[in-house]
Amino acid sequence: DLYRIPEISKPRYVRVNTLKMDVDSALLELGQQNMVKKDNMVPDLLILPPSTDLHNHPLVTNGSVFMQGKASSMVAAALDPKPGWEVLDACSAPGNKTVHLAALMRGKGKIIACELNKERVIRLKETIKLSGASNIEVLHGDFLNCNPNDPSFSKVRAILLDPSCSGSGTASVRLDHLLPSNAAGHASDVTHTERLNKLAAFQRKVLMHALSFPAVERVVYSTCSIHQIENEDVVKSVLPLAASYGFQLATPFPQWQRRGLPVFEGFQHLLRTDPVEDGEGFFIALFTKRDDKNHSEK
Ligand code: SAM
Repeated sequence: DLYRIPEISKPRYVRVNTLKMDVDSALLELGQQNMVKKDNMVPDLLILPPSTDLHNHPLVTNGSVFMQGKASSMVAAALDPKPGWEVLDACSAPGNKTVHLAALMRGKGKIIACELNKERVIRLKETIKLSGASNIEVLHGDFLNCNPNDPSFSKVRAILLDPSCSGSGTASVRLDHLLPSNAAGHASDVTHTERLNKLAAFQRKVLMHALSFPAVERVVYSTCSIHQIENEDVVKSVLPLAASYGFQLATPFPQWQRRGLPVFEGFQHLLRTDPVEDGEGFFIALFTKRDDKNHSEK
């Protein structure tokens, strides 16, 4: 069932880039040709009918709106950085969530966008340019080489960590499994497991690194994977370390029904979206420090 071709009847979403246009103006303009309404959960997100094709719409090409799914748009919203904060996007290209952060912060404060891959840095810079954000500093390098005690990170209050993952929650990867050459033979199962284990080890390492930044009060860990090993297992394995730094799990979007898999106490804090029911399979965990006074969730 996981590998079922997603229905094409799922709604389309666009995120209004509030650095360039307010939500009501976007609603009015897109509403001239489409049925459009606001999402009831993610601020700045608009819902359009399934067949809508906005690729060449002027609002898309000029960066006033970004074609970004609901699950993907929940990640920066879950981090909820305040205007004026310093925020680190640890694995940032192509930058959809980076520029969402900039919009949520109303262009105030500073975002450091780290990206390891040279080609993807180019895409990141293009996204930033299109968004009009002027407070994003691009750091081309390995997040693991960012020294948490370096003075340039001493004011970082929030980290968005959306590391490389299997991508098993997105349609294109799931469709791969339908190809005859990928028919689940024993050898390919082993390779698959090995790959997931490697990814999970990397994800655990970068998450532990993110939690170690001295001034950080909020860390969001997200994947577009459906696998427990990249999601709940990674979070569970860092909980003792997180607690030693004063972090606890908080509940992003408490009104969202689909939570983590029940594999440890506190799983209800975790958020999952379903690849079929919700269009994409995402996972979100939010760590907060007990003394984070800017946010109400407890
Ligand atoms: N957050 C992005 C967005 O919403 O547009 C997507 C991020 S993608 C899932 C993960 C990114 O992390 C890739 O671009 C990858 O090159 C980058 N990456 C992988 N390992 C990294 C590392 N050690 N340091 C920094 N970036 C890394």
